[in-house]
Amino acid sequence: MTSRIQKLTPLVANQIAAGEVIERPSSIIKELLENSLDAGATKIEFDIEQGGMRLIRVRDSGSGIHPDDLVLALSRHATSKIQNMDDLEKIMTLGFRGEALASIASVSRLTLSSAVESQSGWQVSVHGNEQSAQLEPAAHPQGTTVEVRDLFFNTPARRKFLRTEKTEFDHIDEVIKRVALCHFHVNFTVKHNEKLIRQYRAATSEAEKIQRLSDACGVPFADNALKIEAQATGLRLWGWIASPTFSRSQPDLQYFYVNGRTVKDKVVSHAVRHAYHDVMYQDRHPAFVLFLEIDPSQVDVNVHPAKHEVRFRESRLVHDFICRSLQEVLADIRPGQSVPPTAISATQSERQQPIEPVREYTRGPTSQKPSGNYHVTPRQTPLPLKMQEQMVVYNQLHTEQEVPKEIACELGYALAQLQGIYILAENTNGLVLVDMHAAHERVLYEQLKKSFQDQALISQPLLVPLTMQLSEREVNCVEQYANVFESLGLKITRMSQDSIAIREVPELLREGNIDPLIRDMIADLIEHEQSVRLDERIHHILGTMACHSAVRSQRKLTVPEMNALLRAMEKTDHSGQCNHGRPTWMQLSMQELDKLFLRGR
Ligand code: ADP
Ligand code: MG
Repeated sequence: MTSRIQKLTPLVANQIAAGEVIERPSSIIKELLENSLDAGATKIEFDIEQGGMRLIRVRDSGSGIHPDDLVLALSRHATSKIQNMDDLEKIMTLGFRGEALASIASVSRLTLSSAVESQSGWQVSVHGNEQSAQLEPAAHPQGTTVEVRDLFFNTPARRKFLRTEKTEFDHIDEVIKRVALCHFHVNFTVKHNEKLIRQYRAATSEAEKIQRLSDACGVPFADNALKIEAQATGLRLWGWIASPTFSRSQPDLQYFYVNGRTVKDKVVSHAVRHAYHDVMYQDRHPAFVLFLEIDPSQVDVNVHPAKHEVRFRESRLVHDFICRSLQEVLADIRPGQSVPPTAISATQSERQQPIEPVREYTRGPTSQKPSGNYHVTPRQTPLPLKMQEQMVVYNQLHTEQEVPKEIACELGYALAQLQGIYILAENTNGLVLVDMHAAHERVLYEQLKKSFQDQALISQPLLVPLTMQLSEREVNCVEQYANVFESLGLKITRMSQDSIAIREVPELLREGNIDPLIRDMIADLIEHEQSVRLDERIHHILGTMACHSAVRSQRKLTVPEMNALLRAMEKTDHSGQCNHGRPTWMQLSMQELDKLFLRGR
């Protein structure tokens, strides 16, 4: 039996459209928020009840809607923002589809009140069906209020998909945060069940912006944020990225905006990931708040009804610009910068809760503050004689000799090696602790990268070629990637079905252990055979090389060797972190040391 064709009623058509954009209360917040911003509001207030399921009220101080347009605003494909496809080419407003109010009205009880400059207010209410809209006078200051009650009251199937009040409010909170982060000049107030939950005050100065950053993303993020500002023809990127030691287990602190529109985009996320790949573990995620400004004709925003995605005309260009800009900032993290690599790495659940950066070395007596009339008087044990003698010698040395000029260097002058793991050094601020292996690994890695780029990896023939037994698959891999190995200074030939001979190795690796390195490289190449980018792989391999040839712990270093490492670190990009994003050194200032010993109280 064939059924006959009928035209859908506007209500059903709107409900179907609503299915695309109105998934939950937070989707309504997003649409209403965008309308308020498009209307130029500088003050937006949210009243939410029961996670938005019972009530969402958004009140703004924008331009308002003319009374004659109020009913029209609720019908589908009605918009004041574009008239034709040419307008879409240069779109600067957040909305343009003319669908939101109609969609929301079709699945809730909606009241729209508004007043334009120096005129009295009007309002219109609809309950599911726009045909029933009634216009009546209402007291309202300039601006617009949209009240949405009983979401999905007439579409019970959709209502079932709503989660708990708390979950729905969390979504709303996130949507508002996302927008607040990019509209610094707007004042936002958020109430849930009549309780004030958030207040983002309008921010113009840099300090106020940082305040908003920490209100929205937490104090640790703001403390670890590096400012970025870069420009290229037709492109501008600015904002904040977290230093690599502040990495996240989830990609939950990543905010990217294109021309003021929040965007999740593959090109962008790849560019950011690539910029960090050198300084962060594979399974960790960077944190950032970034704004890209680009000629609107270079980007298509009409890819998805909810407008989460964009398409760049020149995606390669945008990708490389973002990547390069971030890399420059990351490479600049040097000893002595404002963001110390010692700041704690934030992991899971510190969202919103401001946490005081805890330094791991504040153990011991400092935690027990002397209180009341109880006084701590540390008993001085006399130094053993031998040590006293040494002290005298040390003091003489230091008065007779000039203070080593290295003390004035950022990482100071090496004093000693601790347990074969740490270098202790003295600089003008106090004590410097260096993780010897991690630091050396980074220095070598940067050297390897540089030599690789300059095609200057010098290789050395081995007097006796080194033979290795491998699986057939592994040997095939070596053959397949012979040019990759060669570009890394490794000359390898096949000996048999399942063995290879290594004939030349890079000079840097002469002392290193070749066998495990080759095995790691092969495993790496096999696993990422279809890898997107060979240079990312090669960087990984160079990292493995660096790790295999960096000084192992327990190796005794002489003072000149230690100083050489400190000097090399000062000259090296990214030297604040090892290749995996762990800190390579930290500073204990004299004040911090004094605190440990309760001096000066
Ligand atoms: P769009 O935003 O895509 O144009 P909407 O359905 O969201 O479509 O809104 C329809 C129209 O109603 C808008 O084009 C705008 O003219 C008007 N409007 C909606 N909300 C507001 C507001 N808060 N302030 C002023 N005008 C508004
Ligand atoms: Mg809109």
